[in-house]
Amino acid sequence: MSGTVGNDTPGTLPDMPSSSASFPVSPDPFRLPSHIRPTRYDVRLRPSLSEATFTGQVTIDLDLAEETTSIVLNAIELGIAEVRVDGRDARWELDENTERMTVLLDQPLTGSSAALFVRFDGILNDKLRGFYRSTYVDSDGVEQVIATTQMQATDCRRAFPCWDEPAFKAVFAITLEIEEGLTAISNGTEIERSADAGRTVVRFADTMVMSSYLVAFVVGQLEATDTVDVDGIPLRVLHVPGKSSLAGFGLEVGAFCLRWFQDYYDIAYPSDKVDLVALPDFAAGAMENLGCITFRESLLLVDPDQSTQQERQLVADVVAHELAHMWFGDLVTMRWWNGIWLNEAFATFMEIAACDAFAPDWQRWTSFGLERSSAFEVDSLASTRPVEFEVRSPAEADGMFDVLTYQKGGALLRMLEQYLGAATFRDGVSHYLRTHAYANTETNDLWDAIEETSGRPVRRMMDSWIWQPGFPLVSAELVDDGHLTLRQERFGFGTDVADATWVVPVHVRIDGETHTTLIESSEPVTVALDARPDLVVVNAGGHGFFRVTYGSNLRSRLADPAALAQLDTLERYSIVDDAWAATVAGEMSAADLLTLLEGFVDEREYGVWQAIVIALVGLSRLVDGDPLDAFRGRVRTLLAPALTAVGGPTPGEPDLTGKLRGLLTRTLGALGRDDAVQATCRELFTTGRRGEAVDAELLAAATTVVAVNGDAHDYDTMLDGFTDAATPQEQLRHLYALAEFDDATLVARTCELAMSDRVKTQNAPFLLRAAIANRTHGSSAWEFVKAHWDEANQRFPGNTIIRMVDSVKLLTSDSAVADAAAFFADHPIEQAVQSLEQILERQRVNAALLDREREGFAAFLVDGRP
Ligand SMILES: [Zn+2]
Repeated sequence: MSGTVGNDTPGTLPDMPSSSASFPVSPDPFRLPSHIRPTRYDVRLRPSLSEATFTGQVTIDLDLAEETTSIVLNAIELGIAEVRVDGRDARWELDENTERMTVLLDQPLTGSSAALFVRFDGILNDKLRGFYRSTYVDSDGVEQVIATTQMQATDCRRAFPCWDEPAFKAVFAITLEIEEGLTAISNGTEIERSADAGRTVVRFADTMVMSSYLVAFVVGQLEATDTVDVDGIPLRVLHVPGKSSLAGFGLEVGAFCLRWFQDYYDIAYPSDKVDLVALPDFAAGAMENLGCITFRESLLLVDPDQSTQQERQLVADVVAHELAHMWFGDLVTMRWWNGIWLNEAFATFMEIAACDAFAPDWQRWTSFGLERSSAFEVDSLASTRPVEFEVRSPAEADGMFDVLTYQKGGALLRMLEQYLGAATFRDGVSHYLRTHAYANTETNDLWDAIEETSGRPVRRMMDSWIWQPGFPLVSAELVDDGHLTLRQERFGFGTDVADATWVVPVHVRIDGETHTTLIESSEPVTVALDARPDLVVVNAGGHGFFRVTYGSNLRSRLADPAALAQLDTLERYSIVDDAWAATVAGEMSAADLLTLLEGFVDEREYGVWQAIVIALVGLSRLVDGDPLDAFRGRVRTLLAPALTAVGGPTPGEPDLTGKLRGLLTRTLGALGRDDAVQATCRELFTTGRRGEAVDAELLAAATTVVAVNGDAHDYDTMLDGFTDAATPQEQLRHLYALAEFDDATLVARTCELAMSDRVKTQNAPFLLRAAIANRTHGSSAWEFVKAHWDEANQRFPGNTIIRMVDSVKLLTSDSAVADAAAFFADHPIEQAVQSLEQILERQRVNAALLDREREGFAAFLVDGRP
């Protein structure tokens, strides 16, 4: 699954828990008994789109390991009409609490196989889970319905009775009875079509053996692109009518990645076709259903000429991510939900690798630095968690779909790959996939496979990163010019993080030559030097999952502009990012940070500017009034030369040049309040609204700048832009800009809009999050959310509630901290307990930063005093 949503621009001892080392022992409320195993499902469903219901029947072939008098499987929100076992009627019981169905047999089953038949009915729900209803308004203004599925993690049981655990792999044969004029797709290729009682009966090819969470079917008025033949595999994009002009880019990325992954894994694609399906309503970002991958529209449909690089990159990332899962996740699957992190971490790693191959000039591994930083942010808190932990209930696994699973996990794999070498790492991955094809694994199986092919101690190293929370700060010290010492300690924003050590692979570049060393304990490691070095770069290449601090004699050399110019983009990015983290942690003053940032005035790389802008936005929240005005002036002085150097758009320029222009324009206009830039933005926005061509990067920046400085009239124009947008990206830009207005009434309107039918429930929580992040009116947006808490929880997908409240961490007054703590004590978010704790801790960290810096930084800005 991909968690990427919306326009998210910046934006112990290692040991295996014993309970997950062995396979289900009954009775366990979360694990089905394992002596009965399904081998094949024959599922036939008849959805009624207008009634939002369905009827169905399933025949399940079972393998029996021992004599049995009952059969236990999963079912919930289904009405059961009939159950037969080997043709004989059977009784059944349903238990809502355990989401189970028990079939009771009068005669014990004594053979080695049996067939279970169940007839049932259910509802197409509006909660974007199981078999659900998605809607859109067609070109005639009529609401149309699509019936579609999202099974992960445990919602296949809402569509038909099944063994809904990843280790019960089986073949799925799907048949759909659909109304005239509709299209139906599923995991396999359509193999037969017939008519029956006014319906079209569409039968799909058997799937390979796979887990129930990968089953998918979609029924509705869908259009398909022409099929692209990717070395014999048919690939297409499906979407609601009228959007075919937006499908080309996703198709191109899909074809590229499908080929690239077959080559990387050195294993053929494990199914017979790939459909990429854009859905109007989707709770996550996308879902790796075998051969039938579902997406949010904005993550698959894009107009390459009217979109920003970031918007195209999101599509490329997510398409690559889901296709990577076809092998890693679908062909080889975690045994239980504790392994979901590896599934997602690996897909994240491969998404970047494939995207980097697709568009090398995007420098995807450099921009991945930003994603790694988002993991550092959470992992610097006392309330962080280990990447892998024991998971008993599937609900506990819901808490795993976070930045530590995707971004930290992906960054750890990148660090391992860079330590072993890309070819060695890839050989290990391929070996792992071949060894465990069509089966289930534990995390250790991957480390063991890579250890086998590489001969390196992979398991010991990775265990130190996976099973304990946090990450190290590596400090480098030059001693007597004769040697360099490197030591590790745990990095934290507070003093209350527990000590820990890791097996840290460190690349150090000394005067142009790179050395690799391991810091394995709290003991310092010494690197002997031939001569006094001019330049030492620790974490050379910038791929290690740790922060770096330099002793003063090394730091002063790095600060020199000539030295900075010798660093690569990600290394410079890391210097800025580490400095911002040091400020949050209280190790560097805000004034020193600003001075450091101002040393980057000659910087011309997008990646580094991204880190600078994040730090500037953070600093801007420490001051108000005159000091803030002074701060805005310094932002202008710092950024304006770079914007001048970049100049206006030129045909055929690199994508990152346009992206940098957009970032500088947005920051100068919104944070710097630069009059000239604001005027230009207003003009661009108006031109864009007239339907005339405007450079997409500038138009996107202008949309934000106009909102930040806009009035009620601008608000209405923005709302029109949201309503009549031609692409999903344009729609989201206008929507999220509605949260940026600096006007209490307008922000209140945005909050009301989020709770109305005009905003899809997949986007509304993110709009509210943006409103809470509003610099001036965030508190009133938060008051609104609290007042509508029950309604929000009832309407929005469960996994989005925690994202909605993420920006509470930016509300830093003493009363806001106490208020949030009190509110959540009464209104816990059961599906995201740990993430909520992290948000609240980060809020306290931000409040402490403000307390510490407010006066000193204001004085520094106004009269230059430190
Ligand atoms: Zn995924």
